[in-house]
Amino acid sequence: MRQNLIFDADDTLWENNVLFERAVEGYIDHVDHPALTRKQVRAVLNDVERENSALYGYGARVFERSLTDALARLRPDTPVGEDDRAVLRGLCAAILDSEVELIAGAAETLRALGERHRLFLLTKGDPADQRRKIDASGLAPLFAGVGIVREKDASAYRDFTARHALDPDTTWMIGNSVRSDVRPALDAGLGAVLVPHPLTWALERADPPSGHPRFREVDPITRLTAVF
Ligand SMILES: [Mg+2]
Repeated sequence: MRQNLIFDADDTLWENNVLFERAVEGYIDHVDHPALTRKQVRAVLNDVERENSALYGYGARVFERSLTDALARLRPDTPVGEDDRAVLRGLCAAILDSEVELIAGAAETLRALGERHRLFLLTKGDPADQRRKIDASGLAPLFAGVGIVREKDASAYRDFTARHALDPDTTWMIGNSVRSDVRPALDAGLGAVLVPHPLTWALERADPPSGHPRFREVDPITRLTAVF
């Protein structure tokens, strides 16, 4: 039976977090903290990112703000200067300027699934940046509908399915994040498929649900064609 398959984008269809991880390594080098380990510096940054994502959403610009805020917290006696800002801007520019690198097998899998099902894309983050990546991916023509939202919570899934008149019983969310893709989709009455990515962002990690009748885990993404 024909299903509606809603795909996450970052770290499901193309690489994303690896770009941020690279920037974080450069950031920890720049901080060069006299007392804290790299892991401890990272923990402070994670705290700031958690606070800022709730206030400002996601994407490279919010990330730049988090790097700046975390620097002020990590180095309270030395104000963040223009030199610091230039370094942080450069780290984030590398993310914004990067090419879209598709996950192996993602394009072929979408093409095969698109012959049997209706495909959608639902991603969160900065609208202009997400749009740029969708266009650069070359995958846009495969989707019957695309949504870019600020946060992927249950109400975002309800809004998306209502807008496209999708029946929850035949609609599935497919993505790498338990927190943003799996749990809120199940809460909204959809099915959910976790396609794990080894470099999933710390803030997206959570335990997958156990025993939910509409939860599946598939690895790698090419195996989706055996499920749908
Ligand atoms: Mg993702």
